[in-house]
Parts: sequence; structure tokens; C-alpha cells
Amino acid sequence: MSRISATAINALRNQLVTATLLTPDSSGYEESLIRWSDTGMKRAGVVVQPVEPMDIRAALLWAQDHGVEIAVKGGGHSTAGTSSSEGGLVIDLSRMNQVTVDPEAKTITAQGGATWQEVDQAGAAYELVTVGGTVNHTGVGGLTLGGGYGWLSGQYGLTIDNLLSATVVLADGNVVKASATEHPDLFWGLRGAGYNFGVVVDFTYQAYVQKNPVYTGVLGYPIEKLESVVEQLNATLANPDPRSGAMSIFAHAPDGSGPIIVVICFYNGTREEGQERFSAFTALNPVLNTLDMVPYPVVNTLQNPQARYGDRKSFKGVFYEPPLDPKFVRSILNDLLSKIEKDPDLAPSAIILEFINMRKICDVPLADTALASRNSTQNGIIFLRWTNSMKDQDHRSWAREIQSKWKIELDARARDDSQGENVPQYINYAEPGDSVVTNIYGANLPRLQTVKSKYDPKNVFHKMHPIPLLTSQISA
Ligand SMILES: Cc1cc2nc3c(=O)[nH]c(=O)nc-3n(C[C@H](O)[C@H](O)[C@H](O)COP(=O)(O)OP(=O)(O)OC[C@H]3O[C@@H](n4cnc5c(N)ncnc54)[C@H](O)[C@@H]3O)c2cc1C
Repeated sequence: MSRISATAINALRNQLVTATLLTPDSSGYEESLIRWSDTGMKRAGVVVQPVEPMDIRAALLWAQDHGVEIAVKGGGHSTAGTSSSEGGLVIDLSRMNQVTVDPEAKTITAQGGATWQEVDQAGAAYELVTVGGTVNHTGVGGLTLGGGYGWLSGQYGLTIDNLLSATVVLADGNVVKASATEHPDLFWGLRGAGYNFGVVVDFTYQAYVQKNPVYTGVLGYPIEKLESVVEQLNATLANPDPRSGAMSIFAHAPDGSGPIIVVICFYNGTREEGQERFSAFTALNPVLNTLDMVPYPVVNTLQNPQARYGDRKSFKGVFYEPPLDPKFVRSILNDLLSKIEKDPDLAPSAIILEFINMRKICDVPLADTALASRNSTQNGIIFLRWTNSMKDQDHRSWAREIQSKWKIELDARARDDSQGENVPQYINYAEPGDSVVTNIYGANLPRLQTVKSKYDPKNVFHKMHPIPLLTSQISA
């Protein structure tokens, strides 16, 4: 992309009212490029940090007039760089991170650049919660627009199932409210394909009273116990409880003591209920046990030490139909460990598997929101972390190989269950451009194309899983 001229930058500067404008020679520019993963960082031509919708409108119109690419940054966790731009405009929402709570209406409104930490804390001040991410520095923006699973999903569904309304700046500069009654087609599309339509300046969520602390913490096991642990994880799904969830992490212990299986346990109830729920796990004699009663926001900090900023990362979704075959998990763990043995730079990498009660999520009819992956399939992540930028392609293609193994396993299981082979993947765990990602929008694609043609006919927002345009739009 050619450099943006000084004249063009001045024209933009003159149109902004309260936003900060940063160019490569401004102080604060380098800091503004930082993303959760170094693989997601690109050198923007210009960064606009708005605090009000009118400046977003000005930046969007300016970029379209000048043929400049547009990227929108929420929490900055895209490993593929979809919230960054090489030479283009970044609308960086980090200054729009206010969260307000309406305790009477039991709603929480978060600006588009807020993180879940800000939502968890603001809600806790009123003993309220909503369904947010399990790593509290992720952005409300990307996570909500792609669906959003969290520890409270068993009770309250996905983040989008609790979204009541959103304010959006569209490509044509109009600022609109989307809800069940205002622009309902846009509201439908935002919930599962939401990066395709505009810049969301705020989200209003349904909140729930959460007076009690939750029973949560980490259990650690030597890898010899893998099969027994997987069997217990399967049992949590076979005996579902909406107030419970679990996540397993297969990784090297951060203290260098070797491979370990970590299980994060969650129970929204009393200590006794939680202990009962996870008694089979504690009976396996974990070498690490931090289970305790803690305030709800703490559960979303448990993964922060492993999910810290810095280094290069790949974050690729895998999907499985429970029950998990322990032999298959053992073979994948062996793959990971031998990969790390060959290349110790990958030591902080992990395979993460979720065990979430999907009943509440599946109660919502598929056609009610744009999210296509509303089914009993569970999600996991191949998370790679390394430092050597020369290895980016190698590591990504290895992750794709492992992803393919999961896909073959899933397809075999789906065939057994007559569910059809092409189960849609969870959009937020799918890195754009991956060959293994074949079915993001599933049955909702035709309707999404219609909504896209109405709200973003020129395909201004195309960085994250772009909705393929209708033939009439391509030829126009
Ligand atoms: C460590 C980690 C933990 C995670 N945990 C969970 C989890 O518990 N549950 C879950 O469901 N997912 C989880 N995810 C996946 C997460 O939902 C996605 O990575 C999500 O896209 C991150 O959003 P962000 O705003 O932080 O990232 P960004 O990189 O800022 O944005 C991602 C995409 O969304 C767009 N976008 C962001 N904000 C806006 C906005 N306000 N308006 C318009 N477009 C916007 C960006 O343009 C970009 O294309 C996790 C990811 C990571 C890396």
C-alpha cells in the first residue's frame, strides 16, 4: 500500500474533533501498534483513537474518499492481524473503554474498546454479572461480535444471547442503534458475524444477580493420568449441570518441571456443591489444587499468567464431538510434546479444550442469530507461542496439520451421529485464511449476504471472515 500523503493526513486531522491522531513520527504511535500477539502487529499509516462516534464517522468517510484500508481495533487479540493494517487506517477504540451499569434494569453497557476485566469489575460493584470471556484482557468487541463463550454460558448462553442492543457507525457514516426492534436485521448479523458491518461503539448486555462467590481453581496432574482425566472431563458433559464448566490445558509447566495436565474447574454454587461436582477429579490425587471460593471476576484471571502479552502466537480452533477419545488426545499430546522437544522455542504452547454445557446455547434456534456454530460440538484451541519470526510459517503449518487431525476425528464422529460432516466452526477461534476453516457461516450465509449488501455494500469491513458478496455486488 502506498504511503498516505501529508495532505491527506492533514485533511483527516482537520475533521477530527476530540480523537487523537497518530502517525509513525508521533509519540504514542509505537505503543498503539501493540497487540496481544506480535504476529498481529502491523505498521499503520495512521491511527485514530476516538472518544466519540462522530470522529469514527469522519475517519471512515475520509478513508473511503482516499482509498485507504480500514482496520478496527477492540481488545487487540487477533493473532492474524485483523485489527491492524499495514499502511492503512486503524480505528483504535482503546480510549472508548467506559462501562456503565444500570442496577435497576440489570444491564451493563460497555463501549466498543472495553475489555472483559472492565465489565467484570463494573458489574461486581453492583453484584451483577454477564457472560464474558474467560481471559479478562480480551476485548468485548471481537468476542461479542463472534458469539462469546464464558464460564456462565451453561446458565445464560452465549455473550450474544445476552446482547440487548448495540450502537454502530456504518460505512456510510450513519450512527444507528441495533436491537430486536431497531434495525433487527443488522442486530441479527452482529450476533455471530459482527465484524462485517461497522464499528460498534457500545454493547448493552443483560446482567444477572451474582451475590455469591464461585467455586473455582486449578487442578494439575502428571501426564500419565491423561486418560483418567479425560474420562472425568467426558463425565462432566454426560452429567451436565448448567452451573458448572471445565477447561483442560495440556502444556509444559511454567516452572520448567515438565509436561502437565491442568484442569480449570468452575461451579457457580456453594463450596460443598462444587466439591461434590469435582470429587472424581480430586480423587485422582492432583499434584496441584487451588480450588476455593472466590469472587466471580477472579475466575477470568486464572489463565492470565499463560495468556500474557508478548511473543509470536497462533490461535487455531479445533472442534470435537463429546465424548473425547482418550487415545486420540494422547496422540495429539504426543505430537505437541515431540514438536516442543524438537523446537524448545515453542515450550509455552498448549492444547486447550473446553467442556461447556451447551444446552442453554442450543435452546436458541440456529436462525435467531447469525452464529452458525450453535450445536453440541465443543471447542478447543491449538495455542502456539514462540519468539523466532523466521519460524512463523513452519509453526502455523504444523498447527494446521494438527487442526486437520481434529477435523478428521470430528468428521468421523459426526458421520457416526448422522449429523453431517461439515459442522460449522466457531468463528472466534478460526484464524482467517486457514484452509481447514471451510464452514463459518453455514446455513446462515444467504441471509448474511443480504444483510451485508444492505449495510456495507462496498465491503469496507472485510478483515475478519468476510462475508462473500452477492454476485450482483461484485459486478456493480
Ligand atoms: C487469550 C485469549 C482468550 C480467549 N478467550 C475466549 C473466551 O473465553 N471465549 C470466547 O468466546 N472467545 C475467546 N477468545 C477468542 C476471542 O473472542 C477473539 O480472539 C476475539 O476476536 C478477540 O477480540 P478483541 O476485541 O480482543 O480483538 P481484536 O483483535 O481487537 O478484534 C478482533 C476482530 O474484531 C473486530 N472488532 C473488535 N472490536 C470491534 C468493534 N468494537 N467494532 C467492530 N469490529 C470490532 C476487529 O476489527 C477484528 O477483526 C480468546 C482469545 C484469546 C487470544
